[in-house]
Amino acid sequence: MKYISTRGRAPAQTFTQILLGGLAPDGGLYMPETYPQFTANDLARMRDKNYRELAFAILSRLVSDIPAADLEVLVERTYTAQVYSHTRPGQNPHDITPLLTLEDDLHILSLSNGPTLAFKDMAMQLLGHLFEYVLAREGCEINILGATSGDTGSAAEYAMRGKQGIRVFMLSPEHGMTPFQQAQMYSLQEPNIFNIAVQGVFDDCQDMVKAVSNDAAFKARFQIGAVNSINWARVAAQIIYYFKAWLAVTEDNQQEVSFSVPSGNFGNVCAGHIARQMGLPIRHLIVATNENDVLDEFFKTGVYRPRGATQTYHTSSPSMDISKASNFERFVFDLSGRDGDKIRELWGRVEAGGSFDLKAAGLFDKVADYGFVSGAGNHAGRLHTIRDVYDRYGVIIDPHTADGVKVGLQWREAGVPLVCLETALPAKFEATIVEALGRRPERPHDLENLESLPQRVHAMAADAQAIKDYIAAHAG
Ligand SMILES: *Cc1c(COP(=O)(O)O)cnc(C)c1O
Repeated sequence: MKYISTRGRAPAQTFTQILLGGLAPDGGLYMPETYPQFTANDLARMRDKNYRELAFAILSRLVSDIPAADLEVLVERTYTAQVYSHTRPGQNPHDITPLLTLEDDLHILSLSNGPTLAFKDMAMQLLGHLFEYVLAREGCEINILGATSGDTGSAAEYAMRGKQGIRVFMLSPEHGMTPFQQAQMYSLQEPNIFNIAVQGVFDDCQDMVKAVSNDAAFKARFQIGAVNSINWARVAAQIIYYFKAWLAVTEDNQQEVSFSVPSGNFGNVCAGHIARQMGLPIRHLIVATNENDVLDEFFKTGVYRPRGATQTYHTSSPSMDISKASNFERFVFDLSGRDGDKIRELWGRVEAGGSFDLKAAGLFDKVADYGFVSGAGNHAGRLHTIRDVYDRYGVIIDPHTADGVKVGLQWREAGVPLVCLETALPAKFEATIVEALGRRPERPHDLENLESLPQRVHAMAADAQAIKDYIAAHAG
C-alpha cells in the first residue's frame, strides 16, 4: 500500500514514511492510492472479532511496511480496557467503544472513554505506540510541537508521556481552556512533556508553531514533528470504530446505517467517508457543525468559504470552533475523481484567502452519491438537546455530542439505525452541563481531584524566538 498526495505532485510513500510528517512536499494531504475493499463476506467474518482483532484486520490492509506480528503487538498495547476505562455504569471497558442504545435504532457510540475523555484518544494512543516503534527502528528522536485550545494537546500528551525518543512541546493560551482541561495537561510530570502557557490567544500559539515550521533549518536540526489532525495515521485509526459500530447495530451484512458526526477539522467524518469507500454499508454521513458552519454551508450550497480566525465564533462546543476544515481536501480529492490539478487550483484560491463553488465547477451533484448531508447547531439547541436526552433516557451528553444528536435527528429515517458519535464526555465541559441541567455531570473517580494536583507549566510571551530558544534548551 502506497500513499499519494491530493495535489498530485509528490512521490508515493509508504505508511511509515508519512507517519511522522504532516503535509506532502507539494502541500497536499496523503491518501491511500486505492481503498482496500471489504465485501459482505468479509464483513460477515468480522462479526465475532473484538476491537483489537478488528483494528488489526483493517490496519493491516493500510500498513504494508510494519511486519504483521509487530503491528498486532502495537494494536494490542493500544486498545486495552485499562486505557479506555472511563465507561459509564453498565458499559464494559473491554468493548473499547461500547454502544449506548437510547431507543430502537438510536445509539450513541462511546468514543471518549480514554484517558482525556475525548474521542481524540482513540487515534492518538495508537500514534504514541507507532511513533515509539518507528523511531526506535530508525534510531531517531522527534520533538513534537503543537498548539492546542484543549482536546488535541491533552490527547497528544497522554499518548506520548514517557515514550522513548519523543518530547512534546505544547503551546496553549494562558486563558481559554477550562480548568479541567488545564489541569489535565499541566498536572503531567513526565520529563518528556513540556507545557507552555502562552501570553496570548490560541491563534498566537498557532502562529508560533507556523513560524517554527517555516524555519526549515531549525525544523531539520531539532527534528520537529506534529500530530495534528491531517496526520494520516490518525484518520486511519478512526476508520476502525465505524466498522465496530456498524457490526454492533446490524445483523445483515448489507444493512445500511447512518452516522452523525460532530465536526470541526473534518477528520472524524473523513474516516467515515473512507470506511464507506472501503465497502462499509453507510447510508448517510451526517456532518454536524456548531455556529461555525463552513462545512454545513458547503454541503448545502457547494460553496466552500473558509473564514478567518477573527470571524470564528467562540461557542459552547469549543472543539468545533474551526473555520477551515483541514481534512476536507481529502474528500474533495475523491469527489473530483482524484484530480490533483483540480485540487491545486481549488486550494490555490483558498490559500489566497478566497473560496470555491463546486456547483459552478459541475461537481456538486456527485456529493449526494457519497452519502453526505449536514446541519448546524447553536447554543440554545445544545442546551435543549442535553436536557431532552437527559429527560428521555437519563443520559448526560456533552455539548459537542449534543450538536451531533440534534443534527442527526433531523436526518433520522425509519428503519435505518442512527449512530451518533460521542466526541467527549460531559465531565470535560461541566459549565455547559450545569447551565442545561442545573447539576454537574459525574466525573470518573480517578479524576475527582484533578484540579488540586501539582501543575508543571512554563509561561511564555507570544514570541516565536522564545519557543525556539526553549526547544533548543530542552531538546537534549
Ligand atoms: C476534535 C473534536 C471534534 C471535531 O473533530 P474533527 O475530527 O476535527 O472534525 C469534535 N468534538 C470534540 C469534543 C473534539 O475534541
